[in-house]
Amino acid sequence: MTKTQQIIEKTNRLGAHNYHPKEVVIERASGVMAYDPDGKEYFDMLSAYSALNFGHCHPEIVQAAADQLGKVTLTSRAFHNAVLGDFYEKLCALTGKSMILPMNTGAEAVETALKTARRWGVDVKGVEDGKQEIIVCENNFHGRTIAIISMSTDPVARRAYGPYVSGFKVVKYGDAAALEDAITENTVAFLAEPIQGEAGVIIPPAGYLKKVREICTKRGILFIADEVQTGFARTGKMFACGHEGVEPDIYVLGKALGGGVCAISAVAADSSILGVFEPGSHGSTFGGNPLACSVSIKAMEILERDGYPAMAAEKGEYFISKLRGLKNPAIVDIRGRGLLIGVELSCDAAPYVKKMIEAGVLAKETHECVIRFAPPIVISHEQIDKAFEKIAAVFEG
Ligand SMILES: *Cc1c(COP(=O)(O)O)cnc(C)c1O
Repeated sequence: MTKTQQIIEKTNRLGAHNYHPKEVVIERASGVMAYDPDGKEYFDMLSAYSALNFGHCHPEIVQAAADQLGKVTLTSRAFHNAVLGDFYEKLCALTGKSMILPMNTGAEAVETALKTARRWGVDVKGVEDGKQEIIVCENNFHGRTIAIISMSTDPVARRAYGPYVSGFKVVKYGDAAALEDAITENTVAFLAEPIQGEAGVIIPPAGYLKKVREICTKRGILFIADEVQTGFARTGKMFACGHEGVEPDIYVLGKALGGGVCAISAVAADSSILGVFEPGSHGSTFGGNPLACSVSIKAMEILERDGYPAMAAEKGEYFISKLRGLKNPAIVDIRGRGLLIGVELSCDAAPYVKKMIEAGVLAKETHECVIRFAPPIVISHEQIDKAFEKIAAVFEG
């Protein structure tokens, strides 16, 4: 057995099989490139589902982590730490919101947004506690907790996890009229991804987010944008809502917020909304820890300083125009915004993904038929060219 095979065998033997990883072991990585234990080189075109917008081990982010490791890593929220306030300040400036609530994973941030909306519904809107309704979309992906899978329409994510959490209504994604029809006096919020990532890079019709914004304002409900995957420049704007000039009431953020180094997530909203929490009403031991905050502050600095949104827009256009030149009758659609790109096939995408990985390009299919390309935003034109050559060899070879 090769080293790679030995590692995979142990991992599969001892770990629960809630994932089915591709047959690759990443032992080390830098920027766009990843290496397996046998020395084989890969272009990482998935970026840990957009958590690696800065590439692997960005030297300045690693340095920020190292500096903080020499000071203090964890205080809990029983005490103040010296970096949390700076983290808040940076994220407030980036989102245009006045308050932040930090957590660790994307799912926890979504849960936090659900709690925020329910409380706001009672305390501000005057809905009776227990009656609050939150409207969500078909084919959503918001994470894996019991409450979140309760609002999922994916049978694989939901099976045998009942009883489910109530208070959710599902409407068609991209259909503003369906949202408007579903609103009642007990509706407190509408939660949606500005582009559905896991569903297969589904971009809503032009004007949808704007209409959603108008409806939510008119009917007095909160618009919660789950930008865990689309946020922080991935789609060519700082936040994907920005493509329609729309500001949600609540941003749900995660993934790239941690610079590819730490798990850190957050909800950002104005104090008229996040003010609903009092001491003891919500929290997390690791939420807002100084290590993750230091890393995140550095990541956000780099994002602005190096113009990541424009980089993603420009490189995305370059990459997608190359992909559109691929000649293979199985390709039925190529779509994307910035560097969040979906190639939809008429058939099972897994065999193509397997061949791409053999050729040295890491990617993964979503929903059987769609291959998602979401390389680090730092990818160079030359790297796009080289990776594309390998992709073309698989599709046209
Ligand atoms: C990944 C993702 C989440 C969940 O984040 P975790 O860190 O895996 O809990 C939530 N929403 C969206 C849109 C995501 O892509």
